[in-house]
Amino acid sequence: MSAMLAESRSDQPTAVVDVPSSARKRVVIIGGGFAGLAAARALRHADVDVFLLDRRNHHIFQPLLYQVATAVLSPAEIAAPIRQLEAKQRNVSVLLAEVTGVDLASRTIEASSPGVGVRKIAFDYLVIATGMRPSYFGHDEFARHAPGLKSLNDAETIRAKILGAFELAAMTDDEAERARAMTFVLVGAGPTGVELAASLAQMVKVTLRGNFHRIDPAKSNIILLDAGNRVLPTFAEALSRRVTRRLTRLGVKVMTGVKVEIVDEQGVVAGGSRIPSATVLWTAGVAASPIPKMLGTKTDRAGRALVDPFLKVVDAPGVFVVGDAAALMQNGHPVPGVAQAAIQEGRYVGRLIAKGLKGRKVKRPFRYFDKGNMAVVGKNYAVLERGWLRTSGFLTWLVWAFVHILSLPQLQNRLRVQRQWLWSYFTGQRSSRLIPEPPRTPGADAG
Ligand SMILES: Cc1cc2nc3c(=O)[nH]c(=O)nc-3n(C[C@H](O)[C@H](O)[C@H](O)COP(=O)(O)OP(=O)(O)OC[C@H]3O[C@@H](n4cnc5c(N)ncnc54)[C@H](O)[C@@H]3O)c2cc1C
Repeated sequence: MSAMLAESRSDQPTAVVDVPSSARKRVVIIGGGFAGLAAARALRHADVDVFLLDRRNHHIFQPLLYQVATAVLSPAEIAAPIRQLEAKQRNVSVLLAEVTGVDLASRTIEASSPGVGVRKIAFDYLVIATGMRPSYFGHDEFARHAPGLKSLNDAETIRAKILGAFELAAMTDDEAERARAMTFVLVGAGPTGVELAASLAQMVKVTLRGNFHRIDPAKSNIILLDAGNRVLPTFAEALSRRVTRRLTRLGVKVMTGVKVEIVDEQGVVAGGSRIPSATVLWTAGVAASPIPKMLGTKTDRAGRALVDPFLKVVDAPGVFVVGDAAALMQNGHPVPGVAQAAIQEGRYVGRLIAKGLKGRKVKRPFRYFDKGNMAVVGKNYAVLERGWLRTSGFLTWLVWAFVHILSLPQLQNRLRVQRQWLWSYFTGQRSSRLIPEPPRTPGADAG
């Protein structure tokens, strides 16, 4: 079955270039996120050629993206080049390419690389690990005014929007415009919305204190909206209540049970009322990348591929979907879209393929081992839920900081983040408060 992406441009003929073949079997992994990298690493001792494709040259540690968006960390501190895997693992080739089609009949994928064009790559095994992207629930027009948080570009856009809003507030003589500039609306009170709102609240009170003579950033209005009836809906209700109290104490206005109807350049209309705001951030839904749909297999409402308990695509031998792109039920509950689940799934599939190559069969289906769910709510406060264990407060925050430092992929990043956090913790300062300059026309400054 052919399912090449409809957007394939006709002005760019498909060159069937195929990467050089060898006698060895070939595993193609699409996506160098948590799941794809774990799958590639699990194949390090296997007698196989692994091709790891990603449209970005870097892996992002997404749990800390909100800190880039709020100027605590700089982009390089939470990213690592995927290519360094080639230096560590002889059987891996990393390709900078965007996959635009999957053809199960010919067992090839179609990938487009900058400067090279489109090429087809054959596979014996295919691992799809393409993750999720922000979803505007059918209102894609909101995206223009309310950026989501998924990539380093998104984080930098949000940071520039937040810092730019204060500059606007300080420049304008119009009181209403100043109030609009100092109102921040976050749509979606899941972990990303909560973490971003709390970090922003701290930034306006501490980091920006005294930075403007004309305005007081502490008087900003930070509003966290959600159509559901509580914040952090995937956590226990008791933790949700604690987090709401904590946010309120930090100065965040939590509005639940409120649906956003319009997002435009003036702000939002939510629950029938207009909230003027120069900075609307989308922290609500996510949807799978278009790749799982190209398999022609069943997908859930968010576009994730329904996989069997071995993470295989039904009726497609040797084709797997892992991480956020996969929809898998366990004990009547969906396996959550979190980094640990992605890593465990990627590792499982890598090992399953390695065993298959040796003619051995894996009999035990994938089991997700839940190490716990955490969210941080500003300085000194985090919540943790693991089975019956529910904790919150300073000690939980220390655990959160420790776990996140250790989870960063590069030692260099661990040391840099540690240093930045210590600096920020004791001084309240954030070193990445940059608004990128708009590109200038060459020669425009001349004369
Ligand atoms: C802001 C934010 C905060 C989060 N916080 C936490 C947290 O605190 N704890 C936690 O456990 N989880 C958190 N998560 C969720 C966690 O990051 C995801 O569950 C995890 O990244 C999923 O891993 P993945 O490998 O499936 O996908 P990803 O890590 O998203 O990787 C997908 C990769 O596929 C590539 N790709 C996509 N499409 C194509 C294509 N067509 N061609 C080539 N490459 C492609 C992408 O460039 C990307 O590198 C957070 C997510 C976000 C966005």
